[in-house]
Amino acid sequence: MQEHLNNPVFKIIAEIADKNNLSAYVIGGYVRDLFLKRPSTDIDILVIGSGIELATEVAAQLGRLKVSVFKSFGTAMFKYRNIEYEFVGARKESYQRHSRKPIVEDGSLEDDQNRRDFTINAMAISLNAPTFGHVLDPFNGRGDLEEQLIRTPLDPLITFSDDPLRMMRAIRFATQLQFRIHPSTFEAIGANKERLQIVSMERIAVEINKIMLTPRPSIGFKLLEATGLLDLILPELKALKGVETINGISHKDNFYHTLEVLDNICATTDDLWLRYAALLHDIAKPQTKRFDPRLGWTFHAHNHLGQKMIPGIFKRIKLPLNEKMKYVQKMVYLHMRPISLIEEEVSDSAVRRLLFEAGDDIDDLMTLCEADITSKNRERVERHLRNFKVVRRKLREIEEKDRVRNFQPPVSGEEIMATFGLPPCQQIGVIKSAIKEAILDGIIHNDYEEAKKFMLQKGSELGLQAQKP
Ligand code: ATP
Ligand code: MG
Repeated sequence: MQEHLNNPVFKIIAEIADKNNLSAYVIGGYVRDLFLKRPSTDIDILVIGSGIELATEVAAQLGRLKVSVFKSFGTAMFKYRNIEYEFVGARKESYQRHSRKPIVEDGSLEDDQNRRDFTINAMAISLNAPTFGHVLDPFNGRGDLEEQLIRTPLDPLITFSDDPLRMMRAIRFATQLQFRIHPSTFEAIGANKERLQIVSMERIAVEINKIMLTPRPSIGFKLLEATGLLDLILPELKALKGVETINGISHKDNFYHTLEVLDNICATTDDLWLRYAALLHDIAKPQTKRFDPRLGWTFHAHNHLGQKMIPGIFKRIKLPLNEKMKYVQKMVYLHMRPISLIEEEVSDSAVRRLLFEAGDDIDDLMTLCEADITSKNRERVERHLRNFKVVRRKLREIEEKDRVRNFQPPVSGEEIMATFGLPPCQQIGVIKSAIKEAILDGIIHNDYEEAKKFMLQKGSELGLQAQKP
């Protein structure tokens, strides 16, 4: 183990701890990630005694670093070479029923390891010179790393009831590390799911976003569903689950379809919001589902209703209600449009309209559509992908020709007012939108001279007189 602790900061911590007769350990996520050979950017140092004093001395030695002290938590933190070092005194915790905030008192190393969430997160490595590099692993966390298991050190029913956020963390770690959750730990989540109500939605959202940013978020959402937590967080997603059959015709299970689309898109993008667009693209399917004896199952306008559901969902799970949300709404609203451009004889005007509506997000929209192909039949998938390649080419060609992607009206409102000697009024808007429509329909080019001529013609149709210059 010693050779993995060659970070010079550990040596300095050890020297100062030895000098002051304190025991110091690296503990928690950093130790876990060391064994897993995962990079980590935060290091937790456990001190038997005052973490704040040790942190202050170490920071001084490293070059008068700024130390952030949180007196009420007994913790201190500094940043050195892009790594955060957090020092905390060992503690013993006891919980009250109504809150996930424990009553804390000073404790031993053992007390501190007992309060940790999972066996793989409870390992400590000693830093003091006589025992430098010794691993203290009371719950066989290393065995669970080998077996790829998430398991609580103590009775999971108590662990989760004490701090229900740990249920979200269990599922998040299972997703990030692609580990299984031990059966009794898993069952205890189901049994304690209602306790999630004492956890703030902000905390829950942090875990959801961490799940969303893994290579395979489907693992997490399947676990959230199986434990019953999904009902409390995103019931709309849960409602996608299930298959109905009428007259021998079934629709696909939109929960599993959505998760496949989500995993697909994660292979192509790290962008959280495009990932959210994938998660929510079919969110309104349950409400729009109908059985038509001639057409079979339809989900008419699910994109439209889906777009409208998004602000409510974002608000509940404390996602930002800003341009990121608007982007997700736009993706959901437009997600069926590229499919309609597949036919050979699709008009340029339809392509222009989509370019105009999607603007700079057109490539993301195509990425979403490609991720949305989830047929089991390889040949079919290949065929759809080829079709979308053709759509991408059409989009490129029309954009090069007409530049409507970031459409700016070639004739401004001011110019229309000046030309006809008009005050600001409704007719300006009428003329402006007539010009835009004419360009999108291909009646005129996206060009100043043509637009001006069109404006004069439209004005005279409305009975307006152009002013003499
Ligand atoms: P990551 O930093 O990747 O999220 P981590 O395991 O380091 O993973 P942190 O939130 O940084 O997670 O927490 C550091 C350590 O503190 C954990 O490894 C765990 O031992 C302990 N811990 C954190 N949150 C809890 C909790 N809610 N209950 C019990 N122990 C916790
Ligand atoms: Mg950490």
